[in-house]
Amino acid sequence: MDIHTHGLPERETGEAVYFLNRIVGKERLSDEPMHMPFSVGIHPWYIEGDGRAQLEALWKVARLPEVWLIGEAGLDKNSPDLPLQQTLFETQALLAEELRKPLVVHCVRAWQELLGSYRKLHPLSAWIIHGFRGKRALAEQLLNAGFYLSFGAHFQAEALQAAYPHRFFLETDESPLPIQTIYQHAADSLSLPVEEVAEQAERNWEKLTMI
Ligand SMILES: [Zn+2]
Repeated sequence: MDIHTHGLPERETGEAVYFLNRIVGKERLSDEPMHMPFSVGIHPWYIEGDGRAQLEALWKVARLPEVWLIGEAGLDKNSPDLPLQQTLFETQALLAEELRKPLVVHCVRAWQELLGSYRKLHPLSAWIIHGFRGKRALAEQLLNAGFYLSFGAHFQAEALQAAYPHRFFLETDESPLPIQTIYQHAADSLSLPVEEVAEQAERNWEKLTMI
């Protein structure tokens, strides 16, 4: 299971499930096939104006059964207007909450702000921080707060070990590596058979969707 990707592999073997991400304002949602699971949200890099038109567009698609997650949404200190980012992020988090769908979170150097939003909103929906590359101490702080962490092509083994077994996912994001390779890297870091890691990720996903 690839919980977050921006592109599908050219040759699909059918052994993996891909959760394709779609960015409101960057991709035209209506033109694309809607028959497979995807996540949709307003990425902090692609906010247009006050973001209101994008929120309206998001509202229209978010209820579709093919939308399995909301996001990626988040906070990025390398992008302008953090207060506006935070407003749009929290609005999307509330939408995820209302729809009982997990939220995929993009976070760059804004951990305290993210923790602040989490404590403020007390979400029941899972918040999954995608592409987590931080060290173990940060991972533990986020895990203790209640977050899930998703790891991609680059990650710290100790952070993955902290999140395994119940709070981890794996993803390709924008990496050209196949998801199978990322599972193999994770399995090597955990000294576990790759099948076990894959089964655990599926169990984690099933648990999230039961709330
Ligand atoms: Zn992404």
